Amino acid sequence: MSEDNKSNNGSEYEDVCYICRRTESVAGKMIRIPNNICICKDCMQKTFDSMDKMGGPFGGMPYMDMFTMGQPPQHAEVPKNQKLKKKKTEKKAAKNKQQEGIFDIKHLPAPHVIKGTLDEYVVGQEFAKKVMSVAVYNHYKRVLSGVGEEDGVEIEKSNMLMIGPTGSGKTYLVKTLARILQVPLAIADATSLTEAGYIGDDVESVLSKLLAAADNDVEKAEHGIIFIDEIDKIAKKRNTNSRDVSGESVQQGMLKLLEGSDVEVPVGAMSKNAMVPMTTVNTGNILFICGGAFPELEKVIKKRLTRSSSIGFNAQLQDAFDKDENLLQKVATEDLREFGMIPEFLGRLPIVFSLQAMTEEMLEKVLTQPKNAITKQYQKLLALDEVDLRFDDEAIGAIAKKAVEKKTGARALRAIIEEFMLDIMYEIPKDDLIGRVTITKDYIEKKGAPVIEMRGSGEAKLLMQRDVLPEKGGN
Ligand code: ADP
Repeated sequence: MSEDNKSNNGSEYEDVCYICRRTESVAGKMIRIPNNICICKDCMQKTFDSMDKMGGPFGGMPYMDMFTMGQPPQHAEVPKNQKLKKKKTEKKAAKNKQQEGIFDIKHLPAPHVIKGTLDEYVVGQEFAKKVMSVAVYNHYKRVLSGVGEEDGVEIEKSNMLMIGPTGSGKTYLVKTLARILQVPLAIADATSLTEAGYIGDDVESVLSKLLAAADNDVEKAEHGIIFIDEIDKIAKKRNTNSRDVSGESVQQGMLKLLEGSDVEVPVGAMSKNAMVPMTTVNTGNILFICGGAFPELEKVIKKRLTRSSSIGFNAQLQDAFDKDENLLQKVATEDLREFGMIPEFLGRLPIVFSLQAMTEEMLEKVLTQPKNAITKQYQKLLALDEVDLRFDDEAIGAIAKKAVEKKTGARALRAIIEEFMLDIMYEIPKDDLIGRVTITKDYIEKKGAPVIEMRGSGEAKLLMQRDVLPEKGGN
């Protein structure tokens, strides 16, 4: 018997890893587990690693090394006074969080307080902020009180459907909400979802994301928020003879999640397979928020409104709604059904509201007002180099104007600012004497240069673009 096949019980065939299917000569010595199953060291280590990342009963294994199988590292006893110190800092951190407007759902803030905090970050969208604050408040009140339908009155889940053009702040609103309430948030894209069994993520993968966001803590995940963007893309496809695996079927698949059910979810992985442990997540208390731009929905609304008002004394002309900028606010369930959303799906999203398209004025505010406004971020960055960055009011107006032209809402702002800030961020640190930079309207419109003031001299120096900044090609 050769040296090689001693390990595989004298058989003349090589052992093959049960997981990766590599042979012993490629993957090295195998570990044999009951039922004559062989696993290579790499796969075994991966399994331990994924168990190590988990919380719960497996999370207790602080460290497992496949090759040494040694004792977990021993921790020295923490002196008593050190423990006390930690508690104190924790308390202080909690107080700081309250000041920053970050709450704990156990001490649920009233709707007006939630809205007040949203106001600090999100510009405009007053109606959406109000609706969301109330819905979130009711949702967590229902979750925390744990009331069932003992008296026949069941409080309905506050799942939401948000309609708004791109860049109007849908994702941002949800992110801010989850952050201030300190609940885990998973953001999924409906376009990547398909019916189970087809290429793409199945609907339940959104729960894996949420579980990962909750550090694999099932209880925490069950109080979380799932935001599904681009929901309009799973509208029922018209005129199709083939099976609609990425449209209507996805809506069907989501029904049981939206309503609340127990779902088997893989821990530490996005897909189910034999080696990934599973856990059960109940979706009954998870808040689902769906968002989409619903292009052309305005046409559907207009059609309904003109139809309903074309008879009798109140008859209106066909184009009466053409100039109505807030047409989306008049959305009704039947419009969404006409758009391709199935009634069962809509029935599980009882709160429907729209966001306004961003106007030039709103974009100006987005640039300067929110707590983490983009101009403030650049100012902070340059302040680290002891340079005072300023934006002229006219320059802010010019940026907003450019953004409106791009028709992607507030999303365009970052791209525009980054384009011209690149040169500044590159050139300014070259010269220690530069003390202040003022961004002007001319600079935004590529007609001039920013105003540079030297440290200590007090005199403003208007430098031509070619002096400080590299020549820009075209517009
Ligand atoms: P969408 O509606 O397409 O989901 P986002 O929420 O992703 O748009 O917005 C993109 C970015 O624009 C956000 O990260 C945020 O910085 C900014 N933004 C959008 N809307 C607002 C708003 N109303 N107030 C403040 N910032 C906003």
